[in-house]
This record gives sequence, C-alpha cells and structure tokens, in this order.
Amino acid sequence: MSLPKIVLFYVFTPLADPEAVKLWQLNLAQRTGVTGRIIVSEQGINATVGGDIREVKAYVRGLREYAPFKHADVKWSDGVGEDFPRLSVKVRPELVTFDAPDLITVTENGVEGGGMHLAPHEVHELVEQRGEDVVFFDGRNRLEAQIGRFRGAVVPRAETTRDFLREIESGAYDHLKDKALVTYCTGGVRCEVLSVLLRNRGFQDVYQLDGGIVRYGEQYGNDGLWDGSLYVFDRRMHTEFSAEARSLGRCAECGEPTPRFVNCANGECRALFLCCETCTGSGVRSRCPDCVPATPAAPHPA
Ligand SMILES: [Zn+2]
Ligand SMILES: [Zn+2]
Repeated sequence: MSLPKIVLFYVFTPLADPEAVKLWQLNLAQRTGVTGRIIVSEQGINATVGGDIREVKAYVRGLREYAPFKHADVKWSDGVGEDFPRLSVKVRPELVTFDAPDLITVTENGVEGGGMHLAPHEVHELVEQRGEDVVFFDGRNRLEAQIGRFRGAVVPRAETTRDFLREIESGAYDHLKDKALVTYCTGGVRCEVLSVLLRNRGFQDVYQLDGGIVRYGEQYGNDGLWDGSLYVFDRRMHTEFSAEARSLGRCAECGEPTPRFVNCANGECRALFLCCETCTGSGVRSRCPDCVPATPAAPHPA
C-alpha cells in the first residue's frame, strides 16, 4: 500500500566540503527511492523530497545519521504521489538565492543576527499584545502570495528571491522600521536570511515565523490569521489546510476564486497565471493577461 509523503527541511550549519555532502545525499536519496530537490552549500542544506512514506522515513533516518543534521526540523505533509518527477541534488553558493552569500554568517548555531523565532502561538500572543503595531512581511515571491497570505501582510514586489535586497533598499518599506515585523515563508528557510537583511538595514524589531506557513497551517489551518491557499513547489502547486479554505486568487478570465496556476500558452512567455478549471477546460483563456490583446472597446453610439 502506498502513502505518498513530502518532507521539507533546512539546516544552516557550516559545511566544509559541500561536494562530499552532495554525493552522500545523492546516494542516500537514490538508495531510499525519494525524489525532489536538495540544495547543499557551505551554509548547510535545504531540501524538499517526496516518496512513499517508507522511503521518506528511510531517507530522514539516513539524514539524521550525519551529526550536523541530527536535529533537523523536518516538516511532513501529505503528497498525492509522484509529486516530484525527478531527483536533483546540487551544490550552490547559497541555500536560498538572495544573491547575498557574504551578507550572512552561518555558525553551528545557525544564521547569526536573524529575527527572533516565534512559534505559531507566540505570533498570536505578539498580535494580542501589540495589535496594529505588528505587520506580517511576506518573504516569498509575489506570485506565491496571490493565492494566500497572512491577513494584512505586506507583499514585496519580488518576482524572485533575488529581488528582496533591492526591494528592502528601495525605501518602500522604511515606514515599517519601527513596527514589529513578522516575516514568513513556506517552511522558514527564506526568513532566516531575509530577517538578517532587514535587521542590518535598520528594521529594529524583526521576528520570523518558526517552521513557516506549513507549521502554522498544521496548528491553526484557516482559523487563525492565515487566509487562502499555500503555494508549493511540487506537482500539487497549491495546498489547502481545510476543505473550507477559499483561495485568495482570482481567475484571470471569470474572476472566480481559484488557487489554480497554469502556464501561458504563448511559448515565449510561459508565465504562470491564475485560471480556474472551468475557464481552462472551456479553452476561453489560454494566455496570460499580459499576452492577451486588449479587447477592443464596444463602439459608442454616434
Ligand atoms: Zn474562470
Ligand atoms: Zn503570457
């Protein structure tokens, strides 16, 4: 019997020989049968892998045999089967590509100088104590935030993680420098770096959601401060914490709520855009709003 599972984890810890760790990881993943995406760097490891529950458990057991990864905070979620078409294990200069490898310092204790980690219930306590002084800061790409985000969150104009540094330095968020900023992302890894960048640029009071949206959703679903769907980087593309969850995304054609991203049919564009099942099925819209020529205005009566 098969029970598809997905695990998400990261460990910031100095790795003297990332190439060796990569080879070990490649071997471990192949031996246990999991697929997905594993990034290794001098800063540590960041991975999302999936497979049948027995394969994933064997992989996680193997992972923990290596002392620096022994206490990795592994987040489990349900897959749908063959969530990752292949296995990719790569060495990169950074665990997440902020294009800022020299702006953070990683020790055995993790990233230095980041925002304080808050468990989901601690975020609620902070909001109770400080009210409107608390601002959620989305650490993901704008696309991801389209279908779900924390209530009232600030969503930076970032197409990729590389854009964050420019965004922070643009001055567009300087009015938040005295607020209690709570950064959040899917599993927490991007906030480890983002919160350092914010603090080093004068944001005084920065926190990061421990375990990311995944852990928050496990505890509160859509009954807390989270609204909509969670964008995920596997075949599912989105996940909901409950059957009642309503996506914040809107179909480009009919405007109905949908968490469904499709690729623009224009081969030179291929951009992801939101289109509901009915509209894609009926074929009325196959190109993104940028590629669809504007509908000519109805002629005015003379
Ligand atoms: Zn539609
Ligand atoms: Zn397009």
